[in-house]
Amino acid sequence: MKVTERWLTKKPTISFEFFPARNAEGAEKLTRVIDQLAVMEPDFVSVTFGAGGSTREGSRQMIARLKNDLKLEVMAYFAGFGLGPEDIQGVLDNYLDLGVANVLVVRGDPPHGQPDFKPHPASLPHASDLLEFIRPRYPFCLGAAGYPEGHIEAESKEKDLEYLQLKVDKGADYIITNYFYDNRYYFDLVASCRQLGLKIPILPGIMPIFSIKMMENLAKLCGASISGDLRQKLASLPAGDKQALLNFGIDFAFHQCKGLLEAGAPGLHFYTMDRSPSTAGVVARLRREGLL
Ligand SMILES: Cc1cc2nc3c(=O)[nH]c(=O)nc-3n(C[C@H](O)[C@H](O)[C@H](O)COP(=O)(O)OP(=O)(O)OC[C@H]3O[C@@H](n4cnc5c(N)ncnc54)[C@H](O)[C@@H]3O)c2cc1C
Repeated sequence: MKVTERWLTKKPTISFEFFPARNAEGAEKLTRVIDQLAVMEPDFVSVTFGAGGSTREGSRQMIARLKNDLKLEVMAYFAGFGLGPEDIQGVLDNYLDLGVANVLVVRGDPPHGQPDFKPHPASLPHASDLLEFIRPRYPFCLGAAGYPEGHIEAESKEKDLEYLQLKVDKGADYIITNYFYDNRYYFDLVASCRQLGLKIPILPGIMPIFSIKMMENLAKLCGASISGDLRQKLASLPAGDKQALLNFGIDFAFHQCKGLLEAGAPGLHFYTMDRSPSTAGVVARLRREGLL
């Protein structure tokens, strides 16, 4: 089912993002994580795609398992960085064969650890170009990425918003946002989009905190700011107490989600980082408190 159809009949949705495992041990662990989260009956799950096609086979296998064995609705991501038209069509034809209805289209970044990677000479530079290429050729319900704090490379937030509008003009039916720790960034993005006349659903991305090191590293990569207040709260936790940090992360994300749902967000998209305790903890509490 197309997610936009889902939102016409059911809101709010919950959805979980997974990325393909890098080795057999990771795959075994991921199978357990997915089983633990599948029982929470997400409206859909999403599968990332490594830029340059690096996870093409892993993403394909994972989509097939999620769809065929677990009967979950899958949103496949597609990152077009460096790929030529035949490669793009090869991946998307495969998604069609697998019965995928929803595809989130992103540009992607240069693949890590592959200094010799050479983009195809006919590769497309921006997500809007990819959407323009894909829209007339495929029947997918297409999505694009949005950045509540602006994309890390963007000239300015205004320019980034212009390009987000272009992605919608070129075919995006919905937006999924990067994660953020302050809901005001999401509310501002939604307000700016509505001012521009963009009416499509804007699904907020949630990343519960469970590791300070990971939070700091990802914040630098993805541009999600960490406020002084959040830093103070984290600093007041008992040093090295992983359970205390996990509980704090669940509580913090719960309050974020509560605020988002009360403000009418169409759903909650969890960046699970291929782990189950935080996401399961937040969703269980939202359900216990009647918010989902
Ligand atoms: C929900 C979500 C899912 C993601 N999934 C994946 C994944 O599966 N695999 C992966 O590799 N990465 C993924 N990413 C990360 C994403 O690929 C990176 O953030 C990437 O740097 C930008 O992708 P984009 O689609 O937003 O790019 P674009 O929309 O192309 O924007 C990239 C930059 O270029 C600027 N820009 C956009 N259009 C133009 C234009 N026409 N002219 C000039 N400048 C322009 C923008 O302001 C921005 O700074 C995901 C991100 C999100 C939020």
